[in-house]
Amino acid sequence: MRREWHQLSYPGVGNPAVQTSRPSTDSAEDTALGLDRWRDLPRVQMPPWADMDEVASVCKVLDTVPSIVAPYEVDQLRVKLAEVCEGRAFLLQGGDCAETFDHNTESHLIANARTLLQMAVVLTYGASMPVVKVARVAGQYTKPRSAPTDSLGLPAYRGDLINSLEPDEAARVADPQRMIRAYANSAAAMNMLRAYLSGGLADLHGLHDWNKDFVRASPAGERYEAIAREIDRALDFIRACGMTESEALRTVSLYCSHEALALEYDRSLTRVSDGKAYGLSGHFLWVGERTRQLDHAHIDFISRIANPIGVKLGPGTSPETAIELCEKLNPDNIPGRLTLISRMGNGKVRDALPPIVEKVTATGAKVVWQCDPMHGNTHESSNGYKTRHFDRIVDEVLGYFEVHRSLGTHPGGIHIELTGEDVTECLGGAQGIEDLDLPDRYETACDPRLNTQQSLELAFLVAEMLRG
Ligand code: PEP
Ligand code: MN
Repeated sequence: MRREWHQLSYPGVGNPAVQTSRPSTDSAEDTALGLDRWRDLPRVQMPPWADMDEVASVCKVLDTVPSIVAPYEVDQLRVKLAEVCEGRAFLLQGGDCAETFDHNTESHLIANARTLLQMAVVLTYGASMPVVKVARVAGQYTKPRSAPTDSLGLPAYRGDLINSLEPDEAARVADPQRMIRAYANSAAAMNMLRAYLSGGLADLHGLHDWNKDFVRASPAGERYEAIAREIDRALDFIRACGMTESEALRTVSLYCSHEALALEYDRSLTRVSDGKAYGLSGHFLWVGERTRQLDHAHIDFISRIANPIGVKLGPGTSPETAIELCEKLNPDNIPGRLTLISRMGNGKVRDALPPIVEKVTATGAKVVWQCDPMHGNTHESSNGYKTRHFDRIVDEVLGYFEVHRSLGTHPGGIHIELTGEDVTECLGGAQGIEDLDLPDRYETACDPRLNTQQSLELAFLVAEMLRG
């Protein structure tokens, strides 16, 4: 059964001045759009809210607040992802595994954005391909967990939107009021990022300033400086020829994304515009490996919003499941609408991914193929840290490229966990981080992130892979 918004055509990108949205509180229209159907479906990873009345009263507040993003931006991102889908652009997505309220600071946000933008420069220059930039930011406040309790026997930390990381029984109680704080922090983060981006944060004339001191002298930092010098010369050339410089050299569009896990939050920030529902808690929302059951709540909810959406696919995914997800989530086969994010592990990607890509492609389904080389490559270090080795991360990306090259499909993008800080969370890389180095600066609230040098190293390697 097709739903109403699927029958509407996508008229390109709307005019922001006229394409406004309204809270979806008109119950007849909500019912037609099926926005609350998920409430009647099975749902795993349910936040253990104690008081559903309090959840309802918090959601009532969020139902009418100004949204984090605007519908025209969401449409714009879908159009850009259609270019990725057609093989003409590359999707770079990255950021913290879990954002926290404490680290939602100007310096952390800028550091992460800069690292992502540095990677994008390396990829754009190295592969001569437009790069669509999507941050895990302004809403990445929920985490699916593999066990309800942690190693201390406390209720698991589920992300700052739900409970606190503090190892204390009371702090781990799921608190609906945290949704308000998550909203406020997300709004503040986007506000700040938008201001800095339009104020020159991404200006290609300042490329050297993007390189942080602790990176500049490293091999990756030096390679980056070399590219920055070449871009300087290209800009001088443009000026010398008397060509006018485009605004595109001074600013970029950086979109925000998060996992749609706490559906109460994402549903409350859903708005209706032109008869379509938009999940305006972020531009791009994805459903994780643990919550992608076809007939469950999360897949139903994202099937009903007009955003570009993603689904994580682990090594146990059958090609049939992938095909069913395409049919359910993109019945009109709109390019850019659906991203399939494989996260197989480096040891499995070469066997598990080909049948999926082959069979999905054979149905004619239009998807963006993206590789998350992080979540299938996690292990515990000898000294008890959750970590990942840089070599395995690179090897999964390599395997993903090999698979797509051999099948003639486009290796459309990567999805990574990174930070602009000088942390020691992932092993290896040119710094040769070892088990015993991990405690030095292990700061993540959840999974280990690539630090800035490792992120840049990866970008150089991926640029080479893209050049083929
Ligand atoms: C994540 O992206 O942080 C995550 C939990 O991923 P996955 O659903 O693939 O395990
Ligand atoms: Mn993670």
